[in-house]
Amino acid sequence: THLILISVSTVLMAFLWRDTFDAESVRGARVLVTGASTGIGEQIAYHYARLGAQIVVTARREQVLQRVVEMCRKLGAEKALYVTADMSLITDPERVVKFAVDNLGGLDFMVLNHIGSSNFAMWDGDDDHVRSLMQVNFLSYVQMTSAALPVLEQSGGSVVVVSSLLGKLTTPFVGPYSATKFALNGFFGTLQHELSMQNSNVSLTISILGLIDTDSAMEKVRGKTYMIAYPASDAALHIIKAGATHQKESYYPWFHYFTCLFRDWFPHSRDLVIQKSFTY
Ligand code: NDP
Repeated sequence: THLILISVSTVLMAFLWRDTFDAESVRGARVLVTGASTGIGEQIAYHYARLGAQIVVTARREQVLQRVVEMCRKLGAEKALYVTADMSLITDPERVVKFAVDNLGGLDFMVLNHIGSSNFAMWDGDDDHVRSLMQVNFLSYVQMTSAALPVLEQSGGSVVVVSSLLGKLTTPFVGPYSATKFALNGFFGTLQHELSMQNSNVSLTISILGLIDTDSAMEKVRGKTYMIAYPASDAALHIIKAGATHQKESYYPWFHYFTCLFRDWFPHSRDLVIQKSFTY
């Protein structure tokens, strides 16, 4: 019986998660990627470039963005432009969307990926940091979505929100960051319902990532956790495919689907395991 159950669930999972991605669906697409100067966002830009998309990248550092744009052109982007912006400023999120729409003549994919910096440490009582991180990691996503929705409605486009396992379950040392990711899952989960109830043309994907080997993440967790980090380039391709195939929620690495599924089954043991996976 066990063998049959395992086989059936393996076939079912293989069917549910089969790769239905068609690279042609991204060729020539008009794409905006935030937080694209480094890490996963930079890799997202390069994958879109290889797929022949038209790309606008954004972050704060101009010289780094210039290099990303040059690389995108070399890799085969039909168009590659950058716009500098600081998402902690109230007016920049809308300005970035307008820049992309004006320069690309519309928008097909908007990938919201940027995050402000935060410590990997016990919360020290700094509520100002929580407030400012909310603007960068959460409110700016809401502002950009609000600005882009009418354009995406016309093109039948997609919003992809890069979230985290830390927006689904809690661990020590990441209070402010985790709060912004829970906020994203709550807000954009609600929006998914509402778009569906209104028969909207816009698809909205939330990508849930586990630990990824970007420089900024590795710098924070080195020597402090036993968790394995997965490659940024693979995470980036996963995000693009999830958006292009209109998945509502996607998980990278895939087994975090089960992490979330089993999250509340044994809360006491779960919390012990979580706390034991960090050095303190
Ligand atoms: P990075 O720290 O490598 O990159 C962050 C990006 O955001 C950079 O391009 C940075 O560029 C930009 N940025 C920072 N502050 C601002 C600001 N105020 N305004 C505009 N842009 C800003 O992040 P990762 O690549 O590691 O993470 C990318 C996404 O993946 C995030 O949403 C993160 O939460 C998610 N994720 C990552 C995991 C990981 O382990 N790496 C795990 C789970 C989720 P600049 O400094 O030039 O502005």
